[in-house]
Amino acid sequence: MSTDPGFETRAIHAGQDPDPVTGAVVTPISLASTFAQTAVGEHAGFEYARTGNPTRAALETCIASLEGAARGLAFASGMAAEDVVLRTLRAGDHVVIGTDAYGGTFRIVSKVYEPMGVTWTSVDLTDLDAVRAAMRAETRLVWVETPTNPLLTIVDIAGLSTIAHEHGARCVVDNTFATPYLQRPLDLGADVVVHSTTKYLGGHSDVVGGFVATSDHELAAELAFLQNAVGAIPGPLDCYLVLRGVKTLAVRMDRHCQNARAVVALLTEHPRVAKVLYPGLPNHPGHDIARHQMADFGGMVSFLVRGGRDEAIALVGRTRVFTLAESLGAVESLIEHPGQMTHLSAAGSPLEVPDNLVRLSVGIETAGDLVTDLAQALDSPD
Ligand SMILES: *Cc1c(COP(=O)(O)O)cnc(C)c1O
Repeated sequence: MSTDPGFETRAIHAGQDPDPVTGAVVTPISLASTFAQTAVGEHAGFEYARTGNPTRAALETCIASLEGAARGLAFASGMAAEDVVLRTLRAGDHVVIGTDAYGGTFRIVSKVYEPMGVTWTSVDLTDLDAVRAAMRAETRLVWVETPTNPLLTIVDIAGLSTIAHEHGARCVVDNTFATPYLQRPLDLGADVVVHSTTKYLGGHSDVVGGFVATSDHELAAELAFLQNAVGAIPGPLDCYLVLRGVKTLAVRMDRHCQNARAVVALLTEHPRVAKVLYPGLPNHPGHDIARHQMADFGGMVSFLVRGGRDEAIALVGRTRVFTLAESLGAVESLIEHPGQMTHLSAAGSPLEVPDNLVRLSVGIETAGDLVTDLAQALDSPD
């Protein structure tokens, strides 16, 4: 029998032994920017807080453990985390990226790295033959997101990792939507995991942060160098908030998944809903892959409203428990219209989303209240 502590135990204890001086059971928020040395170069592991900070070290140990990674690095935002991974590229290098990756990922690749000589191809990552065809001698990264935002497409992490490795490239997975509780990309063959900890890992809509995890020691050393050299580190209070959020990740995710199922049951039966996009539905094209690579189907649900843009916009304005807002992954339920909100900048591009699309981040309130709220919003006249 394995004696390794379970996921929930590691979420609460990894990197978080009681404080050796005071016995405090909660990791202190270490505000010090500098740490005393007993002699030149002799110290307790910390010198200057950009390079290393005890609260950040606890967070890095904890999330690395949850992802099954040898090393974890925390950042000031999800985009800062993505940035250090992309900074390992040089002019002439090529990236393969999914057609519905997070908008900020497209923005940084096309507006920041492309002018510096990095090339990229966007490909439907559900089509492994198309991915193989897009690989070039200079391809260094295959950038994967699953489930995707906002269409909740599922792609095969193991299959894409194999293709990346056959071509000498690394497979990066943005695991923000699934979290390590539901999906562990490194176990499936991926090389790097990135997170926006702003979402489920923080889980309470009160902190912006990012994370990178890897078991590739050479890459970890390069990323740690960049973390210190570039300096997009999270402050100690932010690290504390994410660490606190992660302690309840497992119980929150169970409830997010359970509530999403209740909401999906209403939506699939409702005459004003044309289509429900949720990987837990047997008719979802990625359902079989999701069943194998995820422990459950997550708390994100998208759907197409009968009618068009006006009907969808009217609907998102009528909920009372679901708050009309961007972002996702926190305890409170959110509703949004991607076409006019999170994905407005995609209009006219291949990333454009249907204008009758509504996205829900199903929270952990009482399931019946969420269902009743959506039912009244759907049943009200426009
Ligand atoms: C929010 C998000 C990001 C960016 O993270 P920030 O913390 O906002 O910088 C990256 N990927 C996904 C999937 C996200 O949802």
